[in-house]
Amino acid sequence: MEFDTVIHGGTIVTPNESWQGDIGIAGGRIAAMAERIAGGARRVDAGGRLVLPGGIEAHAHIAQESSTGLMTADDYYTGSVSAAFGGNSSFIPFAAQHRGQSVDEVIATYDGRAAPHSVLDYSYHLIISDPSPKVLEEELPRAFARGITSFKVFMTYDLMNLGDRGMLDILTVARKHGALTMVHAENNDMVKWMNARLAEAGLTEPKYHAVSRPGIAEAEAINRAISLATLVGAGLFIVHVSTPEGAELVARARAAGLPIHAETCPQYLAFTRQDLDRPGMEGAKYICSPPLRDAATQDVLWRHARIGTFDSVSSDHAPYRFDASGKFAKGDAPPYTAISNGMPGIAARLPYLFSEGVVAGRISLQHFVALSSSNAARVFGMERKGAILPGYDADIAIWDAEESRIVTVADQHDAMDYTPFEGMRLTGWPVHVMSRGETIVEGGELRAERGRGRFVARAPYAVPATAPVVPEMDPATNFGAMIRP
Ligand SMILES: [Zn+2]
Repeated sequence: MEFDTVIHGGTIVTPNESWQGDIGIAGGRIAAMAERIAGGARRVDAGGRLVLPGGIEAHAHIAQESSTGLMTADDYYTGSVSAAFGGNSSFIPFAAQHRGQSVDEVIATYDGRAAPHSVLDYSYHLIISDPSPKVLEEELPRAFARGITSFKVFMTYDLMNLGDRGMLDILTVARKHGALTMVHAENNDMVKWMNARLAEAGLTEPKYHAVSRPGIAEAEAINRAISLATLVGAGLFIVHVSTPEGAELVARARAAGLPIHAETCPQYLAFTRQDLDRPGMEGAKYICSPPLRDAATQDVLWRHARIGTFDSVSSDHAPYRFDASGKFAKGDAPPYTAISNGMPGIAARLPYLFSEGVVAGRISLQHFVALSSSNAARVFGMERKGAILPGYDADIAIWDAEESRIVTVADQHDAMDYTPFEGMRLTGWPVHVMSRGETIVEGGELRAERGRGRFVARAPYAVPATAPVVPEMDPATNFGAMIRP
């Protein structure tokens, strides 16, 4: 067999084991794996290095307007380049519907933003803020049929929040048509009530952002979201879990066999609300929602990453610059409620998770692969990605587990003017990243052409037949058969 590329001598990490060997790539796919493979038009020496599946970034905001119309700093070029430098071979940013927009129009808009520019293979999660009957009955099923098989909804923000009834309707549509609902779970009224109390007391500096969104607002909403999904028999993916209580609820649901999925993000492992109290307006760099918590929370979230509560650790890259185009679009020193929410981290996600997870002994190498790539591929239906196995896309990141470097904003290669990870020393870095067998980053240099990335049509999401059903909705009962949509 003729190989386009042979990667030789590295330690290959598959879902179940690690072994030293070679990988033969042909036509962009992994064609052979063996202890030794001769030939190859190109030979890549991976001696002394780890050969891992390229990362899949499952939570990123790229070329996206917020509900108030503010555009992220990164477009599909800078966003995908930054992700590639961080060891990713593909990503799934959001395509956001704002109220009044048709889903078809949203997808056409994002196709125009992604296809000409992305260096990574990509798909989208939709964001749905206006689930009209037309959206639920026609437009969403059409998007699912195109391979966009997941979407996010919000339980918070007045312009996004669907309400419990809206959630039940859309979860039902997802179950029927094989899609997965993602949810930002925070209790909207608790947050608004807290905002009003803080404003009355004149407490508006960045640090009060963390006070305004209490952990219990997340836990309450996660409990409610799991209950709503369970009533209609749907799967659910809870994004950016930031509290011990939230993680415990997810763990309990999973132990009961419910199709509940979840992620946390590096910022909840790396930073605390103390970072919001940095001098001047520096704390604005650390404003994201849900907010940063405390050191005890970090330990609990790491434990849940280790025991399998989280499917992935995703960046929630939401790049708003530290200037009037981003964080300060509404003034130089605005109250925390007017500071754009979100922080960048698409390039730092995997080096952080590797260094603080694998090198620090908190998670295994196999678990790193699961949290960085394979689980996202499985949950979100990227059937040929997320593993180094014959027949899979040759999406591969070669890592030097010993390289130790200090994070700088320049090596994020994004459009941002800061990184919250600045100055952190991390050990273990991706040194050569491939997508479908093509080198996209090597030795600190970008090798990819703009627009080389392809749209990935994703497989449907199926609720396992063994998932428990509430008795009132069980199709095996008379009433269940009559009312279960
Ligand atoms: Zn997000």
